[in-house]
Amino acid sequence: MPESPLAARAAVGDLVGAQPAAWDLAGELPIALLRKLGAQGLLCAEVPQSFGGLGATGQDNGEFTAYVGSLDSSLRSIMTSQGIAAAAVRRFGDREQRKRYLAELTSGKLAAVGFSEPGAGSELAGMGTRLTADGEEFILTGRKMWVTGAGYADYLMIVALHEDAAAAVMVPTDSAGLRIEKIPDPLGCRAAGHCDVYFDDVRLPASAVLGGGGQSLPLLFTTALSYGRMSIAWGCVGILRACLQTAAAHAKKRAQAGKVLADHQLVQRHLAELLVAERSATAVCEQASRAWDANSAEMVVSAVLAKHFAAGSAARAAGSAVQVLASAGAQDGHVVARAFRDAKCMELIEGTNEICQLVLAQHALSSVN
Ligand SMILES: Cc1cc2nc3c(=O)[nH]c(=O)nc-3n(C[C@H](O)[C@H](O)[C@H](O)COP(=O)(O)OP(=O)(O)OC[C@H]3O[C@@H](n4cnc5c(N)ncnc54)[C@H](O)[C@@H]3O)c2cc1C
Repeated sequence: MPESPLAARAAVGDLVGAQPAAWDLAGELPIALLRKLGAQGLLCAEVPQSFGGLGATGQDNGEFTAYVGSLDSSLRSIMTSQGIAAAAVRRFGDREQRKRYLAELTSGKLAAVGFSEPGAGSELAGMGTRLTADGEEFILTGRKMWVTGAGYADYLMIVALHEDAAAAVMVPTDSAGLRIEKIPDPLGCRAAGHCDVYFDDVRLPASAVLGGGGQSLPLLFTTALSYGRMSIAWGCVGILRACLQTAAAHAKKRAQAGKVLADHQLVQRHLAELLVAERSATAVCEQASRAWDANSAEMVVSAVLAKHFAAGSAARAAGSAVQVLASAGAQDGHVVARAFRDAKCMELIEGTNEICQLVLAQHALSSVN
């Protein structure tokens, strides 16, 4: 990052402060904070400087994402969605679209991303949302569900069927025919603005359709999901770091049976497992970011592996952290209680555990004769 990673972390740390517990309980992030971070380019830090962004490497953006993830997974989820939208604009937009949308996404406008539908979760190929040409314009019809950040967004980047292929389209959230309904009381990332979205013949100009449409659906998914998986994986590293730090600090202070928890060997086992999980997930994410930065052929599978490993590690480790704190952490809003709920959700999104395992198994099988 041109603005050093440390400076970026300090700026976000100051802005976030001790607010995440209250955000979690209220189920809402302050929109002014999102716009402020967005205007500094921090929500999609890999956008090149030539398009108004910070031009961060995947590695630097990853470490920054982990830091935000250690503070608040709802805020990190917003970063992930914004980053996916920016990555799709970079990959599929024409020059004018890149100029316009990347400038907006680095100056305070917010974007969310919609793939999932009631009939298309793990099997995205089953989607029914359709983009149809109508003279010079396009009409979008269908429904998306669980769109992270839609409650705050200025744009929804929607993937739809288009002719006999697919398209990614930037839909302004004030479009006529668009309805956004907040999902009440989600299990985790409670302040991330998850919404169901309905498109009832939403009319859009041709300039909203990235690259004019006609892209392959698998390529659209792979591009968007690879960025999203990297971002979630690093966010889970942040969850692991927060859990390790909180559990270790508590174990050193709280005494039972005549000694601090840290002197009970069974508590030490939890701390050892937390440390192993944090270090291993970091290593896997670093490897994936190196592949991402080198644009290597390993990039796609490395992102799946990183997301799968980091999410599973974070879900298990958050359980250990709650165990170490026991009643001291068993309250909504507490850092380990949030981690426990948030990390579980990370095993569901951008490819469930099972879908990631299928991809990884295929990779393993393809490497032997
Ligand atoms: C907190 C949260 C945030 C989200 N944010 C977004 C977002 O921003 N944008 C968006 O588009 N979507 C979002 N989603 C939706 C998410 O991507 C889907 O929930 C996910 O893809 C799984 O789909 P599903 O819930 O329909 O589960 P299903 O596909 O119905 O799966 C149910 C279970 O069956 C298993 N399963 C399904 N198919 C197979 C198979 N072939 N082999 C083995 N097991 C299988 C799954 O692994 C899972 O355990 C979000 C969801 C959550 C919970």
